[in-house]
This record gives sequence, C-alpha cells and structure tokens, in this order.
Amino acid sequence: MNLELTYLMNSGFIVREGGLLLVFDDFRDPKEAVRRELAKGFDRLYIFASHAHFDHFDSHILDYEAQASHFIFGYDIRRTKRAKAFPAEKTQYMQTYDAWEDDALHVASFDSTDAGVSFLVAIKRTGRRIFHAGDFNWWDWIGDMAENRKLAENAFRKQMKKLAGLEADLAFFPVDGRLEGAMDKGAKVFCAETSVRALVTMHSVGYPVWTPPAGFFEAGREIPVWSPRAEGERRVLSAHGFLA
Ligand SMILES: [Zn+2]
Repeated sequence: MNLELTYLMNSGFIVREGGLLLVFDDFRDPKEAVRRELAKGFDRLYIFASHAHFDHFDSHILDYEAQASHFIFGYDIRRTKRAKAFPAEKTQYMQTYDAWEDDALHVASFDSTDAGVSFLVAIKRTGRRIFHAGDFNWWDWIGDMAENRKLAENAFRKQMKKLAGLEADLAFFPVDGRLEGAMDKGAKVFCAETSVRALVTMHSVGYPVWTPPAGFFEAGREIPVWSPRAEGERRVLSAHGFLA
C-alpha cells in the first residue's frame, strides 16, 4: 500500500495509508486539505503536534475533535492556554523518549533541539515507520556568535546519537531557507546517520524548492526527496519514489 501525502503549510502534513490518517503540525491549512481528506472517508484519524510554537500547533484542529481518535502532543503543549480546550480523554501528551500505543499505532518520542518532541510513528498493520522531526534540527545561524553556533551543533549531535541507526520509510525534516548556506546541514547528517528511505523537507515557507546539492547524500545512499512549496500539494510515496 502506498502512502498518500499532502502538504498543509510549514511543517504540516497529512499522511494517508488506506483508511488511516495521520496529521502532523497542522497550524494552518489554507486549502482545507484535512477537511477534504476526511470527506474521502477514513477509519482512524490521529492528530499530532510536536510542540507549542504557533507555527506547529493551533486550536483550529479542534474542528476535528469528533473525528479524531487521538490528539498526540509534545509535553510542552500541556502548559498552554490553548491546550485546555482539548478533550482530556483523547489527548495524549508525550515526554521526551516516551512511548504510546493503541491497536493501530505505536508512537515513540525523541527530544528536540528547540521545543517539544519529534515523533516516530509505526503503523501496526503494515509495519510502516514515519519520522516527523518537529523543530529538531541543526539550527546553525550563520551570522550568530561562534559560541552559540557551537552550542547549536552540540545539541544537535547529542540528539543525533539517540537517532543513529533509526529505520523509517519516510522522514519529515526541516530544511529552513532562513539558515541560508547552513539550511541543509541538519538534514544531511540525519540522512547519513539514519536509514530513512525517503525524505520530505519542511519548515521553509516563502523559500524556493530545495533540491539536494551534489554530495548531500553519501555515495550510493541517495533516497527520494520531496520539497513541497504549494499548500495542498500532494505526492504518493510508492516503491518508485514520490509520484505526482
Ligand atoms: Zn517551527
């Protein structure tokens, strides 16, 4: 079975596998892609938010409260005012290095280098594994003081140790245009040190489509890449890569 992917905005995506819908970091959905996806029919809907920043978590996802099996949130969201409106019986907060499961999914969380968590979601029926980084990245701001840049690198590399060897069918990872020449440093190390089989780049609103430069992948380890820009843009991830 293929994975059907829809880009919402920033780090927001829908992943559909059959009747299973996973929504990640839907802070804004100008094309109403989630509503359209629900209208096509579904068995289960899980809504993830990696952390509380406005560009990852927004209360409008409460519109899907009736349809959602679970809201699965990074621990920092619990402390926000917006979180109070979510139904406690179907809202799960995850600490770092936490795990949660039901009959359909197993979810593991990792630490971020910014706020909240990143998620590794395993679909039990098919064994598919999907990683969503949230704001985990090597935030290397080129104009910043050397000391801060070193701290950012250390934080990133420390967390990468926990992710080393990770196997996933698909990873969503930031390649943020604001980082200029350093925008793909985090993604490059992430791809080198894990075994992800396809990469979707995110968190780069307003910047041109990113394509991997020569040398981005280690020799013989190239994987398919999708760098969406238009809200509502869709791809199917098949055995042959991302198909329009
Ligand atoms: Zn962000």
